[in-house]
This record gives sequence, C-alpha cells and structure tokens, in this order.
Amino acid sequence: MIQIQELSDGSPLIISTVSNFCDCMGFCEFKILHFLEGISSPQTTIMVEGVKAHEQEEEYEREHFDFVPITQEELENITQDLEFVREGIFTRRLEMLKFGNQEVGLLLCGRADKIRRTRGTLIVEESKYPEKTEKFLTKTEPYDDQKLQTLLYLNSRFSEDTSLNRNDWVDIPHEAKVWIINIKDKQTGETVKSFRGTQTKETKEVLHQKLSRFALVALRKADPEHHGNVRKCRSCRFLDDCEYKITC
Ligand code: SF4
Repeated sequence: MIQIQELSDGSPLIISTVSNFCDCMGFCEFKILHFLEGISSPQTTIMVEGVKAHEQEEEYEREHFDFVPITQEELENITQDLEFVREGIFTRRLEMLKFGNQEVGLLLCGRADKIRRTRGTLIVEESKYPEKTEKFLTKTEPYDDQKLQTLLYLNSRFSEDTSLNRNDWVDIPHEAKVWIINIKDKQTGETVKSFRGTQTKETKEVLHQKLSRFALVALRKADPEHHGNVRKCRSCRFLDDCEYKITC
C-alpha cells in the first residue's frame, strides 16, 4: 500500500514500503496507481515459499549463533566490526524533495535480511529464492528491483523496531557501502549465484532519480511510463484486474 498524508506545514508525505517502491520502480510504474488505490494482489506460491525459506534462515542463525546487544559506543566506533541479527533491523529512508516551490516528503520503510559493518564498510545482504535459479546463472547483474532494494537499505537510517518516530532511528557510521544479493535454491538453501557491488556516485544518482520519479507519479504530477513488455504483464500479480496490461 502507498499512502499520502499531510505534514504539519501542509506538504504531502508519501509513505510506502520498500518492497512496493521497488516493485513499482524496478518492474512497472503502473503499480503505483494500484497501490495508491489500496489494491493488493494475492500472494503467489513463490512468495509464500520465499517467506518460509527466510524463516528457516532466521531459525538456523538463532540455533547456531549468539548475538549480544550492540552498545552505542560500538555503533559509533567505525573500526568496530558489527553484525546485526538476521531480519532484526528495520530501515527508514526519509527524503525531502522539492518540485518547484512545493516540498514533498517521501518515507520508505523496510526490513533488511542482513546488515553488518566490516572494516568500516556497511554491507547489506539479501537472499532471494526464485522459482527457477538457472536464469540467474548467465546474468551479470541482478534485476533492477533487487538492486534498488539493497541500495535503499544502504541509504537508510535504522531501527530495532517498527517505530516511525525519527528520534528512534540511528545511523551506522561507515566509509563505504556494499550490496550483496544471493540467489538461493529454495530446496537446499544453497547460494547458486551471488551478485555484489559497491555504491558509487552513479548508483546514488540513479536512486535519487527513482525516488523523485516515484513521488511525481504518486502525486499525479507525472504519468506512469509503460515498460511495453508483454512478458512482464503475463507474470504480474495484478494481471487480472489491471486496465493498463498489454497482452500481445
Ligand atoms: S499487468 Fe502489466 S501494466 Fe499492469 S501493473 Fe502488471 S506489469 Fe504493470
């Protein structure tokens, strides 16, 4: 769901989950209109299996590793390596955008699979459990929505709970940012392909452009652009009810 609220000065505040944002800006911009109307599509078998596989990863970690709470000093000490409990960190990205004279707030809320800091580098690592892993073997880059998700996490503030109060969010000091996307076999849990990248000036700029574009379409200041890809529509969860779909 994407919601638009009003800030105390009358400016709009767009609130979305990271997954909805990535679905819209990494797959199809028309989904913004569906999410704004509160239309949610049914969960697919792949999604249900993915949730189950993530829960198994969490359980494995709980059984095999002991995590002690991280102190404020450890957090602030950039030379201190840190590892947060799997699925234990919520991400909050608040962007204030300006279109002409109008200020617009955009808040993206997510939950990262795994976050750690190693030798001053902030690392976000996500696991993906696709239906077919073979198609990833020849790919050199992950899908746009997958990369967008990790970039967003890397450029967020963090919270140990679901609080939307910015006083509860913290920064993790670091000198560089790295994203890792592991494509895993859902039967065995083994990683069959790993994509990895460092945040650059260019990727940061791409993220900013996507955030601005998302806000413009959500506020109906710009029309969504169609990807023109029949195969995308055929695989889309909104297919049955989408008036914007293309079928040939
Ligand atoms: S059916 Fe096609 S146009 Fe409609 S939301 Fe899905 S991908 Fe976009």
